[in-house]
Amino acid sequence: AITIAALKEAADEHRVSLVPSVVKRLVKQGCQVLVEKDAGAAANFADQQYVDAGAKVVDRQQAIDQANLVTVVNRPDDETVAKLKSGQALLGLLSLSVDHDVAKQLANRQVTTLSFELLPRTVSRAQSMDALSSQSSVAGYKAALVAADHFMRYFPMMITAAGTAKPAKVLVLGTGVAGLQAIGTAKRLGAIVSGYDVRPASRGEVESLGAKFLTSSVSAAGKGGYARQLTKEEQQKQQDELAGFIADSDIVITTARVPGKKPPMLVTEKSVQAAKPGSIFIDIAASELGGNVAGSKPGAVVETDNGAEIVGADNLPSELATSASEMYSKNVQAVIKALLDKEGNIAIDTNDDVMSELVATYQGQVISGRLRAQMG
Ligand code: NAD
Repeated sequence: AITIAALKEAADEHRVSLVPSVVKRLVKQGCQVLVEKDAGAAANFADQQYVDAGAKVVDRQQAIDQANLVTVVNRPDDETVAKLKSGQALLGLLSLSVDHDVAKQLANRQVTTLSFELLPRTVSRAQSMDALSSQSSVAGYKAALVAADHFMRYFPMMITAAGTAKPAKVLVLGTGVAGLQAIGTAKRLGAIVSGYDVRPASRGEVESLGAKFLTSSVSAAGKGGYARQLTKEEQQKQQDELAGFIADSDIVITTARVPGKKPPMLVTEKSVQAAKPGSIFIDIAASELGGNVAGSKPGAVVETDNGAEIVGADNLPSELATSASEMYSKNVQAVIKALLDKEGNIAIDTNDDVMSELVATYQGQVISGRLRAQMG
């Protein structure tokens, strides 16, 4: 049987990698579970609930010392990473695609790492492990609510004795998992919603939610169900065609990403300047690398000279920490199930179609095909 330890995240992350209900199941399956003190507090899971579920609440050092498998949401700080020992495993959203040096370092130190970003999404057996989807879904839902909160008008049409309010026009750029959830949520709030994507396959999904699909003249389906990066010419064409759609919207929610690349610039400076006063841009793709909206800043709300607001919504799942943690924790549980052999020990089959991607480093090697390709 193995010992699993869930660490407390950094102060600005409210999620936790294991919730009490999942701890209970893991304990039932014969695992020993350690939870760092206050790990779940920011997501409303008290230490006592973990104890009741069969976990032991410990300090960080004990958790790291005793665990065979350490679970996290985000990659822990460098000091913690440096403490991981040979043969120990780390599971989380480790962002190794943007930090190849960390991947190399962990491989050299014989630490096993499993990074959710590397999961092959289209293998059906991997669906229960798909933390990118569960967290994107949370982000999309919350994006529509944040938009409604910032917007100084109604979302639905309102016919009242004091007059009639027009429904808000919401445009969602990038209609993957997050975008579809944003569309569904904005529709439920009564807005008029359109969606746009460069993967033609998303048309049916957008239309099935009752939203209008704005056809892109650029078609860019890539590998593994993802979009590919656009060429310079395609990007120009796209920015031009989007300018009109954006000018006609009250709210633009952007979610476009290309794995391992800088997010595409969809809303240019010119489009932001042309926006009506009171317009709201919610950029879920906002990151240190840049986002989908010119001028967006991760974690900040930028007010433009022309009276629009750009919300750099880089970590919406943290704002819905309880639900996000519950789903993430289920994804963690599914990975653990796939990792354990009959005796309850970690057994990694690097030829397995899921593990050959999800496992970033193992026994001194970089395993993940996608990560290897990126590292060259
Ligand atoms: P993502 O977060 O990588 O990107 C979000 C969206 O942005 C995608 O729909 C993408 O096409 C779009 N995009 C990228 N560049 C763009 C551009 N220049 N202009 C406009 N849109 C752009 O994607 P995701 O939401 O994580 O999903 C990726 C794919 O994986 C989707 O096709 C999704 O349906 C698929 N998926 C499949 C499964 C499964 O089969 N079980 C599970 C989850 C996701």
